[in-house]
Amino acid sequence: MNAVGVDVGGTKIAAGVVSPEGELLNEVIYPTENVREPLLSTIAEAITEVQRDYEIGGVCLAAPGFILASENKILSAANLEAIEGIPLKEELGRRTGLQVAVENDANAAAWGEFRFGAGEDVDNLVFVTLGTGVGGGIISHGVLLRGARGMGGELGHTTIQPAGPRCGCGNRGCLEALASGTAIGRRAREVAGEQPDSALGRLARERTPLGEDVLALARKGDGSALEVLREAGTWLGIGLATFVNVFDPEVIAIGGGVSEAGDLVLEPARRELRLRSCSPAKGLVEIREATLGAKSGMLGAAALARGEDGEYVLGVSATR
Ligand SMILES: [Zn+2]
Repeated sequence: MNAVGVDVGGTKIAAGVVSPEGELLNEVIYPTENVREPLLSTIAEAITEVQRDYEIGGVCLAAPGFILASENKILSAANLEAIEGIPLKEELGRRTGLQVAVENDANAAAWGEFRFGAGEDVDNLVFVTLGTGVGGGIISHGVLLRGARGMGGELGHTTIQPAGPRCGCGNRGCLEALASGTAIGRRAREVAGEQPDSALGRLARERTPLGEDVLALARKGDGSALEVLREAGTWLGIGLATFVNVFDPEVIAIGGGVSEAGDLVLEPARRELRLRSCSPAKGLVEIREATLGAKSGMLGAAALARGEDGEYVLGVSATR
């Protein structure tokens, strides 16, 4: 049977009907308003509308921030404060007549890549998404590692550099503060100041350089931009070395906007991983680009939807 995955973000709500093979059969997108009643009714409307012509076994929301998975609640999420603490299973179940669950968006994206994307052929996957922030998800022996309350898998807040730049979480030197698109943009502005004659320096005289500018300049072979990506890749590799030591994955899939830089970020990450991991597994783990792009959260959420019997609606592949 099909299931609905809903990607609830700070700016938009995207709901999709997903088949057991991971095919997106229908999709609707609504803007997000961070006010309790309109937000709840918009999510319910998106679910109701998208599944109208389909038979649906369940719904799962992928939401940012800390999720109390056992209670299907968002505990805290920037731009979604209006629905923090609300028992969404009951609230949205009542409005849609469907089984509703809630999952962290990076965990859902990891599950999406595991079921239908870069981790489709393995049982042990670490997923890291490098976007505005850095999210993570771990699948070990085909099971999503959520921890006791559902708040596990926050790989982006692993400390990489104790006295490093301030992270959005309040800590310093997290992977997110060093290898996210935001961090690459910040580093680009520093380099522009240090090297005013570089391409980044010249750009900074017109406007503020952003993470995507670094990617565009690096693709043209600009040395200062390549160096910024090499640094970000090195920080990423320090994190990956730890993840390999701890989780012994078969594949590490890297998603998010920064992953579009491909080997410009992944090669320094691989090199740093080989230097730093003490595990003999470091030579076996494969670092791949994620394949589902921005749809991974929605597809993964659908694959995490539970039916009346508590089982995953889309099931788990028989090979796992
Ligand atoms: Zn942090």
